[in-house]
Amino acid sequence: MNTTVLNNPDLVARLERCIDLPTPPGVAEQIIGLSADSNNDISVLAEVVSLDPALTVKVLRMANSPMYARAASVDSLEQAVMMFGWNGTLNLALSFSLVSKIESSNSKGLDYNFFWKRSVSAAVAAKHLGKVVGIDSRKEDLFLPGLLQDIGMLALDKAVPDIYLGIDTEQHQHKIVQQIEKDIVGADHASVGAWLLEKWNLPERIINLVSISHNEERYENIGNTSPAENCIEVSNVIADCICSDEDKKDYQYAANVCEKILGMDKDAFLSNLEGISQEISETAEIFELDVGDPRLLNCIAEQAKELLLLRSMETLRTAEELHNEAENLELKAKKLEDTAKIDALTNVYNRGYLESSLDSEFHLATVRNLPLTLVMVDLDNFKDVNDEYGHACGDKALIHAVEILKMCIRDTDSLYRYGGEEFVISLPNTGAIGAESLASRIIAMFNNKNFINEDGEKITVTASLGVAIHGEGIIYDNWGHLLNIADYCMYASKANGRNTYTLYKEEDTAAVSAAVG
Ligand code: GH3
Ligand code: MG
Ligand code: MG
Repeated sequence: MNTTVLNNPDLVARLERCIDLPTPPGVAEQIIGLSADSNNDISVLAEVVSLDPALTVKVLRMANSPMYARAASVDSLEQAVMMFGWNGTLNLALSFSLVSKIESSNSKGLDYNFFWKRSVSAAVAAKHLGKVVGIDSRKEDLFLPGLLQDIGMLALDKAVPDIYLGIDTEQHQHKIVQQIEKDIVGADHASVGAWLLEKWNLPERIINLVSISHNEERYENIGNTSPAENCIEVSNVIADCICSDEDKKDYQYAANVCEKILGMDKDAFLSNLEGISQEISETAEIFELDVGDPRLLNCIAEQAKELLLLRSMETLRTAEELHNEAENLELKAKKLEDTAKIDALTNVYNRGYLESSLDSEFHLATVRNLPLTLVMVDLDNFKDVNDEYGHACGDKALIHAVEILKMCIRDTDSLYRYGGEEFVISLPNTGAIGAESLASRIIAMFNNKNFINEDGEKITVTASLGVAIHGEGIIYDNWGHLLNIADYCMYASKANGRNTYTLYKEEDTAAVSAAVG
């Protein structure tokens, strides 16, 4: 068999030594015996069931319950047995004869009422889910394996003194129970249950389902699991939701598990939860089990709906917060990126940015066959400004120069601080006429505008400009070469007495190529 074998010799020895392990009541034992022989006729089963009048009544009540809604009432055991089929009757008869008949005497700490409430809830959920996924209940009834998935707790309660002693409300949280079992005996009740049911000679199919019932790691591995296994696993999670204390009910988790394992969306989950809660009330009545206030069961689906809605609103809000956060981060990143491009003193682009920006400007101009002008601007005798008025005044003069340059250029032009008191202006789509007009505007404005230093003195600075044009007769290989020529022209302006501009012309080519290479 492929069940998770209880591979813990100490625990097995302990269970074997235990004299009051739960055993199936007489009639259940006979039924188990019958199930081992596939040649048995269904009437033999009906005969065994009929030996127990209480059991017979329960089977009949079940056949006439709303869960099996039929047009005509089922009046005889034979009819009921025919209706449930061999597997269905066997499952029901076993379930009825096991529940509540297993002695709760000498319990060390297990809450038997809660135990059976949870077991019946899991059984109903498993059966209901089986219907939903299309399992033929006459061939494979999931009620019994659902019911027996916690039976190992009864064995542990008897064989390991005190294992559940002192855990009161925690018993209502199945995951805590499982962890405590693993801590104390190194196995959980699902494996112990499978071991016990093997001893009872129950069909292997049921033992297998019980052994996998609490293995959540399998959720990660669905696809290799059968629909029956999936239903049993989910039934365990739904039973948790229905039976655990109000503040511990995790509907979101249950809805997620349902979606992952059974592909059930939220609405389907809620309507199935409603169906299951209702069936639990009906089944508990037939089993004569106390499942608490039926109104609580009836409003479970409603409560789940509210909580899931609340949660999805929270999720939405979180998503919105995340979105805003991402936007803020993006803004910050953009700011940082911008800061990296900008010169701190003058607030214009720096030399680092010039290099990447001119790459694309030069490329665009070349492929579009449009002129591109570069102007090199160098302030005249700037060292003297620093020397005469101080460095702070020099800084002010640089800011003043930038204000002038910005006033002269267009939106499509770019201004860069190239070095100390040197600036570069790029003028896309601008040839000689536009370039010369700009250059003379700049020279004039430097001469006409002054700034006032800390001592109230009016200070005027001038600049020398070099202008080079890519296109209109001269085509350069790259912007570096174009800038070298602009620089060359700027020095020509210096040589010409400063405070002027020099435009590079075609006829200068021979002389310049000797000078700048
Ligand atoms: P020329 O007309 O030949 O260009 O003479 P110049 O004095 O402008 O040229 P030079 O290269 O000899 O001196 C440039 C001066 O610019 C020297 C340096 O201290 C000053 N400078 C460079 N960067 C800054 C700055 O950020 N602030 C200040 N206040 N001065 C600066
Ligand atoms: Mg200089
Ligand atoms: Mg200078």
